[in-house]
Amino acid sequence: MPEAPEVQTVLTTLEKQIRNARIEKVEIFHEKLPENLGVHEFEKMLENQKILRFFRLGKYLGFETEEYDWIVHLRMEGKFFVFDSYPDPKDKHIHAIFSLSTGQYLCYHDTRKFGRMYLYPKTEDIASLPCFQNVGIDFSKASGTYLFDRTRNSKRDIKSVLLDQSVIAGIGNIYADEILYAARIDPRSIASHLDRDDCETIAAQTKRILNEAIEAKGTTIRSYTSSLGVEGQYQQQLRAHTKEGKECEQCHQPIQKIKLKGRSTYFCPECQVRK
Ligand SMILES: [Zn+2]
Repeated sequence: MPEAPEVQTVLTTLEKQIRNARIEKVEIFHEKLPENLGVHEFEKMLENQKILRFFRLGKYLGFETEEYDWIVHLRMEGKFFVFDSYPDPKDKHIHAIFSLSTGQYLCYHDTRKFGRMYLYPKTEDIASLPCFQNVGIDFSKASGTYLFDRTRNSKRDIKSVLLDQSVIAGIGNIYADEILYAARIDPRSIASHLDRDDCETIAAQTKRILNEAIEAKGTTIRSYTSSLGVEGQYQQQLRAHTKEGKECEQCHQPIQKIKLKGRSTYFCPECQVRK
């Protein structure tokens, strides 16, 4: 699943390619794609809207048009393509085509069909939109104090808390492993056992790692953004995730892989303290 850095990369790439384009025609081929509206209504509302601005909250991508906030959740496999000619109608994974005033076609492609779109009248307070009801603050705003308040009574393991989008939005499986490795905290630690300093460290490492990943245009383990001609390079900076059996850079012991709540989890049992 694309995490905040990959979604941010999609956003900045689209911003370069299609900003100020007017959407002339909308064709939705998968009726569940618009989550809060019917297909016909969604198509009619977005037609003739100019795309003014792009934004992100957690793993959600947003387009601000003249009258609406159009929110996209790519979920597992959602991707955008920008084509110069009308796409092959036989590609059954293309679920939406937006014909643009620039002569381009913005296409939404999703092999799993889990992605969703939302359309709302424009608001100043993006976080108040119904689709963000269960979405916490974006990683870029998460402080140690905030994390401490959210973990002090939690019996869950800290990795599950980091993955919980209602606490901090934008972190997924790859970056959760990297954050806890950098913070030297065992992913199985009980969240309420962390003290204020631990939470400060985790919050600081979260911002550092996700911002570095955004700089590197995300991680290409599976190609989330290559549809737009961008290959993320952060996989070259991973220190724990996917490094099973490789030497830990700090202590030279092998990185271990375990399953935690069904998710592959990589960590150094030597350096990362279990609390
Ligand atoms: Zn180590």
